[in-house]
Amino acid sequence: MLNNSENWRAGKRVAVVGAGPGGVSAALALHRQGFDVRVFEKNPEPKPIGGAVLLSVPVLAVLRDYGVKMDNFGSFTVTEFRNNKNHLRARLPFNASVEKSFGMKGWHYGMLRSNAFARMMELMPEGMLVPDSDFDSYVEQPDSVIINFKNGTHVEADILVGADGIRSGVSKQAFGDLGLFHVGLRAWLAWCDPIEGIPANTGRIIHSRKYQASFFPMLHDGKPGYEWWIVEPSKQGSPVPDDVKGHIAKILKDFPDPLPRFLEATDMNTQIFKWEIYNRPSLQKWSNGRVVCLGDAVHPVSPYAAYGMGMAIEDGYFLARALGGCDLHDGDKIANSFSVFEQERVAYVNHNVEFARKLGNVFHQLPYPLAKLRDFVFDHTKFLSNMISRDYLSEAEKMSLSLQELHRRA
Ligand SMILES: Cc1cc2nc3c(=O)[nH]c(=O)nc-3n(C[C@H](O)[C@H](O)[C@H](O)COP(=O)(O)OP(=O)(O)OC[C@H]3O[C@@H](n4cnc5c(N)ncnc54)[C@H](O)[C@@H]3O)c2cc1C
Repeated sequence: MLNNSENWRAGKRVAVVGAGPGGVSAALALHRQGFDVRVFEKNPEPKPIGGAVLLSVPVLAVLRDYGVKMDNFGSFTVTEFRNNKNHLRARLPFNASVEKSFGMKGWHYGMLRSNAFARMMELMPEGMLVPDSDFDSYVEQPDSVIINFKNGTHVEADILVGADGIRSGVSKQAFGDLGLFHVGLRAWLAWCDPIEGIPANTGRIIHSRKYQASFFPMLHDGKPGYEWWIVEPSKQGSPVPDDVKGHIAKILKDFPDPLPRFLEATDMNTQIFKWEIYNRPSLQKWSNGRVVCLGDAVHPVSPYAAYGMGMAIEDGYFLARALGGCDLHDGDKIANSFSVFEQERVAYVNHNVEFARKLGNVFHQLPYPLAKLRDFVFDHTKFLSNMISRDYLSEAEKMSLSLQELHRRA
């Protein structure tokens, strides 16, 4: 047995596998509910993947509720969709009720992922994190679950939360083969210091016939900067170009200012990350007995939702809310709580993941004549604007407005 599991209180023991944003969010929220939480992380210390990230208002409200300091946390932005001739296709509206309810301006906030994650980690009570614990398997018993680690140790908990990311071992054991598939996209995510001549608080998602190149303002360590990225069609196993900078420069030359300028402002060794995008078929259940999964372990998502980290954080919050007051001795009560969690999250998240995949296909996988028609429709009608409002924003805003306990009227 691991030493720091000795004082675990039966009926309260929650083992979280994976100290990513989803696992840490769940741990913070469950701890507040009075559960005895341990987070088992395979690495010597948790490290966030990627560079910059966009988080939306409800996610910020969850973090604020945990006690995350919101000063200089992120930079809000007005999001525009444009074509690569700089023609405006859609501007995402702000929702006045959401702004008023949460006392926060706008919707998307850009920040460095390591900064956001560090502020979450500051709130973790000492001893909650158990590093160097690589999950191997679990064995469910009538009243508990035994979790085995690859170093030969094991712990006994009342429930197991699988938050171990896209190649989740917990999810695989609970639900079978992950069925991961490459969605035909590769993203290059980068960030840099400020660049002159860009209107304040403006983020642009820009498409050519084949590529997306985008930028958003962000804060890193409280200082202003930009995150920028490229999405390109790709296939599983496609070779990575030897000359990444040359490859990206070639794509960016067809995009309007300021995009080509970002490349020169970016350190190619430390400020750019490659992301091959994988999804899995949508699951209808995220729990099995005393085991429940969240975040990428059950719903990896493409960057078209700009919401993978955010949904993982929300999952943790919703799971704890559903488990509030649950006696973890009682299998039926656990099943009820997991069922509430699933009712609140599964359909909502699956919709976002599927919509993000659809957008990726529409923008990057259409053959030439259809791509031309798409661009004509997006350039000359409100189709894109309506689709984003209906299929992305309105659902997310509805969910946000339902989180009344997080509202803080300005
Ligand atoms: C390069 C890149 C850029 C991205 N950009 C964005 C963005 O801009 N916006 C956004 O919202 N999302 C973005 N995402 C997606 C986002 O990172 C994920 O959706 C999010 O991190 C999911 O959080 P999670 O906690 O579920 O999983 P993860 O962040 O993957 O965390 C899983 C944790 O589990 C640990 N773990 C894995 N296996 C084991 C094991 N066997 N035993 C113990 N621990 C284990 C891992 O070490 C890790 O700490 C990006 C992803 C990548 C790769």
